[in-house]
Amino acid sequence: MQSPSAKTPPVAPSRWLNGTYWLLAMVAAMAVATSTALWWTVRETQSLARPYQQSDPWYVSSVHSELARVSLLARKLQTGEASAHELQNGVDVLLGTLDQPHQIGMRLREEPPQPAAELKELLRHTAQWSSRLDRPDADARAVATDIIGRSDALLDSSRKAVAAAYLSNTQETGHARQQLHDRFTVLSAVLGGLLAGTALLIWKLVHDARSASAASRQLAQANRQLEVRVANRTRKIEEGRALLSFILDTSPSDVVLAEVQSGRVHFINRKLTERLGLKAPPQTLFLQQLLNDPQTRQRFMQALDQYGQVDAMEALIGGRNPSWSSLSARLIEVDGQLAHLLWGFDISTHKALEAQLRELATQDPLSGLLNRRAFMERGTALFDHCRRHAQPCAVLMIDIDHFKRINDLHGHQAGDDAIRACAQAIGQVLRDADLLGRLGGEEFAALLPHSSTGSAMVIAERIRGAIARMDIESAPGHPMAFTVSIGAAEMAPQHPGIEHLLAEADRALYRAKATGRDKVLAYEPGIRQS
Ligand code: GH3
Ligand code: MG
Ligand code: MG
Repeated sequence: MQSPSAKTPPVAPSRWLNGTYWLLAMVAAMAVATSTALWWTVRETQSLARPYQQSDPWYVSSVHSELARVSLLARKLQTGEASAHELQNGVDVLLGTLDQPHQIGMRLREEPPQPAAELKELLRHTAQWSSRLDRPDADARAVATDIIGRSDALLDSSRKAVAAAYLSNTQETGHARQQLHDRFTVLSAVLGGLLAGTALLIWKLVHDARSASAASRQLAQANRQLEVRVANRTRKIEEGRALLSFILDTSPSDVVLAEVQSGRVHFINRKLTERLGLKAPPQTLFLQQLLNDPQTRQRFMQALDQYGQVDAMEALIGGRNPSWSSLSARLIEVDGQLAHLLWGFDISTHKALEAQLRELATQDPLSGLLNRRAFMERGTALFDHCRRHAQPCAVLMIDIDHFKRINDLHGHQAGDDAIRACAQAIGQVLRDADLLGRLGGEEFAALLPHSSTGSAMVIAERIRGAIARMDIESAPGHPMAFTVSIGAAEMAPQHPGIEHLLAEADRALYRAKATGRDKVLAYEPGIRQS
């Protein structure tokens, strides 16, 4: 399956951000530039719109016309057409026009030097005229004469000032218009740049939004695919886990995985649960609980702690009905915790067979007594034990008399019955601590610990009597009586082993045979076999 990232290259957020940030920075710079240009232009417009900015021509024209009127009034006063009062009014009006409050004609009154000086001169004269006319003894005619004398020159210079003011005003206005035009041009350019940057930014944002939307769709699709893959994977893991559980549950082995410290069971299979006699898997289980025998438990846990593993150790496990198991274990780590993994398989059948074989190997199948090898093995151990503890110990060699005849008279099967009956009779006489075995044919041996020759003779006599009194039949109506001869010998310091003791008892037995059978004889040194 092709991965979603392979179909379309993923959006690089840093590049996206870089581009947008650049545009944002550009638009911000253009906005600052536009604001600056706007402020610059507005300031210029404000300076043009300032009150009295264009008042110079008006001011100087007013002065000129009021001066002309004063000059005319002065002339009329001379001819009697105007009164002194009218002249005084005209002079006051001229003085008021000249001495304007606020900004009117201010530039003209202060700069340039020529009109300013002339206007100051005119103001000075007008003020004089006014004060002279204000006096109670005012000589209006003299003032009128002074006015007429000066008015031509003053009118001429005021006319020039009017022309200069209009010219200067026209030039200034033209210059201001040109400047305003230039500033509007700059403002337009900057505004154009701002508009272009904004348009570019909007385009970029729309484009990026589309890309982001496409990327988000792809991401969502990739997420869905990932979820499906995760779900598939989880399902497979679950299936695998279920399969493993099934295998382990149906396996003939016992399996358990449990934490060492807490005993928390991670897994236990059905087989082991049943073997422990539990209906449901336990929550906690310690391996120690499983092992019945304290010694085996200690050996097992020691090996596991020391080497981290145990292999094929045979042990009895289970609660009420323990069974033999061959156990292997490992010390492992699960979820950061030490855990014991144990598995084993039931070897009860194997153990039973082993016991059976061992029994078969030690038991005489006809009589059920110990066979020669087992008798010699255990007899040797008992013999050594008695010698170690300085206890007396005796043996009896028992042989059926004329057994060949029994076989001949009653058949081989009856002979077997006779051997079985004889073994049973001997066993009934002996004590539990005594050892009885069939050494071969119709020959038995008994080892009697803690017995001297005397007590052994007593027992042997009981055996002989019991067998002689036996009332058995080879078939209904066919009695099968027989006797045994017995030789006895007691352990003595010169005996290196049980074989020598048996040999001495055997000599006594043959002596009994030779001297008539159906009797018990003790070994005596120098006894002859024939
Ligand atoms: P003696 O009094 O001198 O002991 O004579 P005997 O006949 O008992 O001794 P012998 O050794 O001559 O004969 C033993 C016979 O026991 C020979 C053999 O056929 C028989 N026999 C040995 N083992 C068995 C057996 O397991 N079953 C039967 N029925 N007979 C056996
Ligand atoms: Mg015999
Ligand atoms: Mg014999």
